[in-house]
Amino acid sequence: MLARAQALISESALWGNLTALARRAGVRLLLPVKAEAYGHGLETVVRLAAGHPDVWGFAVAVPREAATLAALLPGKPVLLLTPPAPEEVGPLADLGVRLPVASLAEANRLPPHARAHLKVDTGMNRLGARPEEAVAVGWRLAERGLLEGAYTHFATADEPDLRFAREQFARFQAVLAALPPVLAHAANGGGILSFGALPGMSLARPGLAAYGFAPPHLRSQAPLRPVMTLRARVTHVHSVYSGETVSYGGLWRAQQETTVATVGLGYADGYPRNATGQAQVLIGGERRPVLGRICMDQMMVDVTGLNVQVGDWVEFWGRGAITVSDVACWGGTVEYEVLTGVGSRVERVAEG
Ligand SMILES: *Cc1c(COP(=O)(O)O)cnc(C)c1O
Repeated sequence: MLARAQALISESALWGNLTALARRAGVRLLLPVKAEAYGHGLETVVRLAAGHPDVWGFAVAVPREAATLAALLPGKPVLLLTPPAPEEVGPLADLGVRLPVASLAEANRLPPHARAHLKVDTGMNRLGARPEEAVAVGWRLAERGLLEGAYTHFATADEPDLRFAREQFARFQAVLAALPPVLAHAANGGGILSFGALPGMSLARPGLAAYGFAPPHLRSQAPLRPVMTLRARVTHVHSVYSGETVSYGGLWRAQQETTVATVGLGYADGYPRNATGQAQVLIGGERRPVLGRICMDQMMVDVTGLNVQVGDWVEFWGRGAITVSDVACWGGTVEYEVLTGVGSRVERVAEG
């Protein structure tokens, strides 16, 4: 069957972003590819990124993602970022997956061939050992010969006020100073763009920035380009008369005869339903408004005056006039949520 909707994944944009971020961070990257590589397709992205000289390894959120990667790229380092269930520890260690460790109990439970990254909670208060406990956990891992890395995560590194992020980093440095040398990593994309090279770090973990996005005040810190272009085909073209309404609830009413293109992408594919009333798309290079409610599998577009045929592509976001940031704004959300929402019916296609 033909895919009705495609996410084109640009290798050159991804490679350019990785190069720029590694240069700014001054270290190699542990590239977050959780949640289907921020919606870009786990397999598509790791195949494109694995050969980049600045990519040391990949970071994932759940054991299933780690297992997929271990099978796809044997030998490439993979770090699981969240605690596995006790019964998952052995199988993950067997696959070579690096495991996060935040307590003596977890350190003691690891099999002797495991590799651990000590997780330090310096203020995010989500996961990890508190700094005052982390040193003992790190030493236990080191005594067992399992300590490969140590990391922490910033809560506010993408905000203009960096005071709390600096405090977090100081707490992390104090822990590192009391441990044997390890692969240390702290910065997410916001941390890299805000701070550049952080002293004593071996790796950095840019997620959203690697896929091409940064908050407005940080955009000048690195040349980033959006990696994904989302498009779908026109499935039907018709006219409505003045006074008729389009889509559920009759929210939009034609003020004049209007040519309408129905397009095969909806909120089940990840387009925010809350963008109803504000959404625009690109068709034949022109910005056109979406008419009425965005549906589960479809939306309708005003194409009056354009020569539009069934099968033509409609672009929802990309590197052109409409970006994920625009769609996130119309939908009342953020780029992270829009990108990770792109559904499994959308075919991921690598392009140059
Ligand atoms: C998701 C995640 C990242 C990447 O964050 P961005 O804000 O997308 O750069 C880095 N580290 C950890 C622990 C994460 O969970």
